[in-house]
Amino acid sequence: MSANAGPVVALAGGVGAARFLRGLVAAMPADELVVIGNTGDDKNFYGVHVSPDLDIVIYTLAGVVHPERGYGLAGDRFTLVDALARFGHETWFRLGDRDYATCLHRTLRLRAGAGLSEVTDEIRRRFGLELRILPMSEDPCPTLIELEGGRRSHFEDYLARDGAPEDVCGVDLSAAAAARPGPDVEETLRGARAILVCPSNPVVSIGPILAVPGVREAIAASAAPVVAVSPIVGGAPVKGPADRLLRAIGVEVSARGVARHYGTLLGGFVLDQRDAAQAPDVKALGIQTRVIDTIMSSADASARLARATLELAEALR
Ligand code: GDP
Repeated sequence: MSANAGPVVALAGGVGAARFLRGLVAAMPADELVVIGNTGDDKNFYGVHVSPDLDIVIYTLAGVVHPERGYGLAGDRFTLVDALARFGHETWFRLGDRDYATCLHRTLRLRAGAGLSEVTDEIRRRFGLELRILPMSEDPCPTLIELEGGRRSHFEDYLARDGAPEDVCGVDLSAAAAARPGPDVEETLRGARAILVCPSNPVVSIGPILAVPGVREAIAASAAPVVAVSPIVGGAPVKGPADRLLRAIGVEVSARGVARHYGTLLGGFVLDQRDAAQAPDVKALGIQTRVIDTIMSSADASARLARATLELAEALR
């Protein structure tokens, strides 16, 4: 496969990624797009395997995501978790009934011997999606957040149970760093015509994907331009705890800081017009820039951002 013929490959976390991917499928044929999804947030809740980021991407692209929350299904009910609460179970992880069905299906298929990659492919087809979604790994890769005082929490416990407190002192990606890449992940990256890093949390969404052995090597071995979109706008995350997590690993909370953090991986970087003054600093790293409004407040805004990102990638080829 020549560098020109391969797919566009997007490294993706959850909500920020899904909004960007919604724009990408409007800007290019979906069957030429492959998503490599973060599984560092995966966890067992109520006896089922939850893959938050994979499902956020699937539900968003299928147009069935809860519009305000950005995760879960629109109109879902919480009969199951509320009934469990009666028996004294902790039910802070608000998994809706139909969302539970997705996760139960995943669990039953995994138990029957299917791989996470195969099951993810089944689920995206059932939701009518044409783009492929590859889990970064089929091995358990829990991202652990290290807190002051020596406490360590799974990322979902840190975020959803504890409300993402500030006192983070480190992030442990050692499970991802010991995992095997998922089926087709390395081959797909090597054959890509462009590799896009979605505006996702660089530490806990993109970080785990890049930590999986072989992923960075496959990106380096591909002829594809690599372009990232900044998730930091005006010195702050649009949403979520990226600020405290970046600080915890010693990265400046800015578009420029994220570009530096990705470093030599990148050929191009898309940053928000509010951060235009930082473009020269990014260029000084040898990274080409594009400045545009990156707030994806509508489907049109997502599509404009996706087109600008694809154009920058095209210009770098
Ligand atoms: P999560 O796994 O659900 O937290 O989702 P991601 O890691 O994919 O996305 C979280 C990141 O997306 C946060 O750091 C946000 O700042 C960023 N983000 C969310 N919405 C937007 C947006 O409209 N524009 C940009 N540039 N970034 C966004």
